[in-house]
Amino acid sequence: MKGRNITCDVAVVGGGSAGIAAAIGAHDAGAKTILIERSPYFGGQATNAQVHSYCGFCTNGEDWQQVVKGAGQRVLDKLKELGHFDGFAKSPTGNLLVWQDPEYTKLALDDIVSEAGFDYLLCAGVIGADVKDGQIISLECADDNGRFTVNAKSFVDASGEANLSFMAGFKTEFHCEQSGGLVFRMGNVKTNRDYSPASIKSAIERAISDGMSGFSATFGTVGNVKGTNDYIVNIISLKIPGLDAETQTRFEMEGRRQVHAYAEAFKKYLPGFEDSWLISSGPKMGYRESRRIIGEYQLCQDDVKNSRKYPETSIARGGWGAELHIGDSDVTFGEERGAKYFDIPIGSLRPEGAQNLWCGGRIICADLIASSSIRVMGTGFATGQAAGVSAALSMNNSDGRYDVSAIRSELVRQGALV
Ligand SMILES: Cc1cc2nc3c(=O)[nH]c(=O)nc-3n(C[C@H](O)[C@H](O)[C@H](O)COP(=O)(O)OP(=O)(O)OC[C@H]3O[C@@H](n4cnc5c(N)ncnc54)[C@H](O)[C@@H]3O)c2cc1C
Repeated sequence: MKGRNITCDVAVVGGGSAGIAAAIGAHDAGAKTILIERSPYFGGQATNAQVHSYCGFCTNGEDWQQVVKGAGQRVLDKLKELGHFDGFAKSPTGNLLVWQDPEYTKLALDDIVSEAGFDYLLCAGVIGADVKDGQIISLECADDNGRFTVNAKSFVDASGEANLSFMAGFKTEFHCEQSGGLVFRMGNVKTNRDYSPASIKSAIERAISDGMSGFSATFGTVGNVKGTNDYIVNIISLKIPGLDAETQTRFEMEGRRQVHAYAEAFKKYLPGFEDSWLISSGPKMGYRESRRIIGEYQLCQDDVKNSRKYPETSIARGGWGAELHIGDSDVTFGEERGAKYFDIPIGSLRPEGAQNLWCGGRIICADLIASSSIRVMGTGFATGQAAGVSAALSMNNSDGRYDVSAIRSELVRQGALV
């Protein structure tokens, strides 16, 4: 299969929330688009790490409003068609979110990409990039038949780890101030019991005082998978210091060990879980942060806290408060934002010095506080769609120029909120 070659206008790397939306945005803006994902399904951490709530579609509080539509809304509509979305819900911590069942989300995203009109590949990893003078010429990809090349005029990095930006030699920074974790699913749990963070904490504290060990945190949340007696548990808290295979191997194995320790502790100490069993973990460890790009603009704490608006350059809205996972038990949830949202300006999607590369999702240029807000997947759909539209509308500008007002108009035409 040596010499296989794919040619298109826009190539999107990563099929998580940001990547799906980027491919929709680029295709609907008129570009021949391909979406490349290394896992055997789309969804990113929503499916690959069982992160089962889409946050960031709405602001919170009594007078909440929806701040993400467009491609993200298309996903909600598809989940609704499959009977797996019936409105925004309050989380155990009081924020508005969308509960999703990863198995149905896989199906919904398969339907969406099949119907959308762009090309897509699963089980294909991007392993390198050919770059000249800040211009990416092609991607080197690999599947089980070997290597192949994808040529495009414009590219989107929606890899969650800024893998394309890093491989192409653009500036990135690595952060692990905040923890990641291995999420797991328990079956045969009794519903309608007290599974608040406080009661989970007290269960784990009792387990520890009785001599059980192997836990990284006492703060955790559980959420029911609609229509089942399954609960998805998000409690493991590990700071992962690198993206090399050696480090990831160590942490995946440590995460799995902890899953079994927590499952045993829940059965013994959390009333309602006594007859439960472990269904699955991961499959992969989830990351709250890793690499982020150095972009033309760094979204910052002030932007988020002061709900700052950028009327000329905004390409997406952020409605989720800062949510810091720094310590093992002291997770800081965002202040009540009420109906307030902040604007995300286009410069934070654009790696410094890049001519034809755009970024969406968790990797956009942001400081710690802003990143802890924009990483949520609802916001990821919005920045991803903006990256896709930007890539499509600037694909014929060899000098890297872009027209932000045309990009904003196209996003609005596609139903996005800017
Ligand atoms: C424990 C935990 C709990 C969380 N809770 C929530 C929550 O409740 N709600 C919420 O909204 N967010 C939550 N988050 C954050 C959220 O899951 C991520 O920030 C979000 O998934 C980022 O979206 P993304 O599209 O940028 O990247 P991802 O979802 O990571 O998707 C990136 C995709 O790119 C693919 N990829 C990477 N490199 C390559 C390559 N070289 N070639 C091909 N494909 C590639 C990956 O396989 C992946 O599918 C949580 C995170 C963690 C770790």
